[in-house]
Amino acid sequence: MKVKKALLIVDVQNDFCPAGALGVPEGDKIIPRINQYIKIFSKNKLPIFVTRDWHPKKTAHFKRFGGIWPPHCIQNTKGAYFHPKLKLPRKTIILSKGMDPKKDSYSACQAEDVNSMSLLDLLKIFGIKDIYIGGLATDYCVKYSAVDILKNGFKVKVLMDAIKGVNLKPEDSEDAIRGMVRMGAKKITLECLLTRRKKCP
Ligand SMILES: [Zn+2]
Repeated sequence: MKVKKALLIVDVQNDFCPAGALGVPEGDKIIPRINQYIKIFSKNKLPIFVTRDWHPKKTAHFKRFGGIWPPHCIQNTKGAYFHPKLKLPRKTIILSKGMDPKKDSYSACQAEDVNSMSLLDLLKIFGIKDIYIGGLATDYCVKYSAVDILKNGFKVKVLMDAIKGVNLKPEDSEDAIRGMVRMGAKKITLECLLTRRKKCP
């Protein structure tokens, strides 16, 4: 049986893009590339999942309530909406995370869809073995998601041309990528996906 693949786009929301409450430098620059991946997965009728940070106003995730972050991605506010340039097909499965006011929830594995199904449940239902992951931010939600998914026995490909990091410390993204690879993730780019070149990054 052919290994079934899915695309997972992490947190491409206004607040994580420049001018947002927690803007990732050049976070919006990856959107055209993400849209290219979306097109390919759509065309091949493969599932597309997107996660969004979806916080209540008061959460221990925010600085004011004991966390490390300024308020961001508060439910039903502009900052929490997907970036307007992100072209999500109608069939996209949206998973929300960070609703629990006591937890940080960086990982897509802590996210759930509108029917409270978790990402892992959905991957199993769809029979997916191989997850292609991109989005924001490399050193937080992308990393935590990739590592969690790997730990649950799935394969992960990191879309090197469709991720961007916060880099509170300058080397954070590099470290995150090294960490994901150490856990078994493979690095790919659109070029290497399309040409099936053996030599990926
Ligand atoms: Zn958050």
